[in-house]
Amino acid sequence: MSAPTVTQAPDRPNGMETKVIHAGEPKPRFGGAICLPIFQSSIFEVSEGVDYHDIPYIRLSNTPNHVAVQEKLAVLESAEAALVTGSGMAAIATTLLSVLSHGDHLLVQRRLYGGSYTFITHMLPRFGIAHDFIDSTAPSDWVDKIRPNTKAIYVETISNPTADVPDLPAVVAFAKSHDLVSLIDNTVASPMNFRPPELGFDLSLHSCTKYLNGHTDIVAGAVIGRADLVEQVRRDLNHLGGILDPHACNLLHRGIKTLAVRMRYHNDSAMAIARFLESHSAVTTVNYPGLSSHPSHDRAREALDGYSGLLSFEVDGDGTVAQRVMERMHIPILTGSLGGVESLVSRPATLSHVGMTPEERAKAGVSDNLIRLSVGLESTDDLIEDLERALSQ
Ligand SMILES: *Cc1c(COP(=O)(O)O)cnc(C)c1O
Repeated sequence: MSAPTVTQAPDRPNGMETKVIHAGEPKPRFGGAICLPIFQSSIFEVSEGVDYHDIPYIRLSNTPNHVAVQEKLAVLESAEAALVTGSGMAAIATTLLSVLSHGDHLLVQRRLYGGSYTFITHMLPRFGIAHDFIDSTAPSDWVDKIRPNTKAIYVETISNPTADVPDLPAVVAFAKSHDLVSLIDNTVASPMNFRPPELGFDLSLHSCTKYLNGHTDIVAGAVIGRADLVEQVRRDLNHLGGILDPHACNLLHRGIKTLAVRMRYHNDSAMAIARFLESHSAVTTVNYPGLSSHPSHDRAREALDGYSGLLSFEVDGDGTVAQRVMERMHIPILTGSLGGVESLVSRPATLSHVGMTPEERAKAGVSDNLIRLSVGLESTDDLIEDLERALSQ
C-alpha cells in the first residue's frame, strides 16, 4: 500500500454553512465513510526518495486527519493553507518564533491575551527578539514605533476582556507599506465573524479550543493564511513538536461542522444580553463591540460580520461586590476560557489577568469589579433572568 493521500475537491463552496460541513472532506471518502475515520497510526508506509517533511507522520501534521481539517480551516477563511497545532499557544509561539529571528523587532497591540503577553514580554527577549506596544485602534501612532529591524505587526480581532477592535484595514495597509508580516489572533471573532486573509492579513492565528471546536473538550490551535508562510511555520513546528494528535483533529473536525449555527446563536444571544446589562442600574459599563456605546463599535460594524459571544461588564461596587454577583449566577460556570456551549463567567483581575501587576491591569482596562461573560448556547431568556436575579439581590 502506498502512503495515504487525501485528494481534495477542487471546488470551494461559497456559503459558510456549506463550507463548515463539506470543505476538506476527502474525495473519494475512505471506505465510503461519511465521517472521516481516525487514523490511529504514527507512521505510514512511504515510497523511496520522499522529502523528510513529506513523510506521513503525526509530528509532521500530514496524516489524513490533519490534511482534512487543515483544508477545512483554510477554506473557512478563504486562505491558501492552514496548519493545526497542539494548542492556541503552540500556534502563536511557533508562528512568532518562525517569523522572527534574533535581532528582530515586533509591533504588538497592548491589550493582549495573557499567554501571548507573557510569551512576547518574557520569552522572546531571551531569544533576542524585541517588541514595542501599540494602541491598535490609533494608526497614526504606529509609525513612531517602527525600527529598521521591525519585521511583524501583531493584533487581535476582538481583545479580551474589553472587546476592542483594531483598525483592521489600517493594520494591513501599514504592514504592506512597511514590509511587515501581519499577524492576527482571530480566536474571539471566529471565521464566522471575520476572515483575516480576505482583508489581506498574512497569517490568522486561532485557539481552536474556543469557538472553532466549541465543545470544551479539546485544546487545539491553528495557523491560517499564505501558503509559503504556513509551510515555513509547519517546518519549524515539525521540530518544535507542538502538534495536534489525530483524536483531537477528529474532535475539532466534528466541532467545526456546527460552527455556523453555533456562532449565529452566540452573536444574537450576546447582543441581547449586552443590551439587557447596559439598561441595568447595577451595571456601570458594558464592553461589547455590538453596542453603539462601545468605542470600537464603528470599526467593528465596518469589518466584522458579527460581534461574537464574549462581553464584559463592571458592576457598581468593588471587587467583592463583583465576586458576589458572579457567585449568585446559577447558569454560567465560574471559570476562565470562552467559546464553549456552556456560558462561562470569571473576574479577569483574579483569573486570566492575575499574572499582571495592578498597573498593567489598569492599562489593560481590567478593573477589580469587571466581570467577563462568555455567552453559551443556553436560552437567552434563562440567562437574562439569571443575571437579573444575581444583580438585583
Ligand atoms: C485561549 C486563547 C489563546 C490560547 O489558546 P490555548 O488553546 O489555550 O493555548 C490565545 N488567544 C486567545 C484570544 C485566547 O482566547
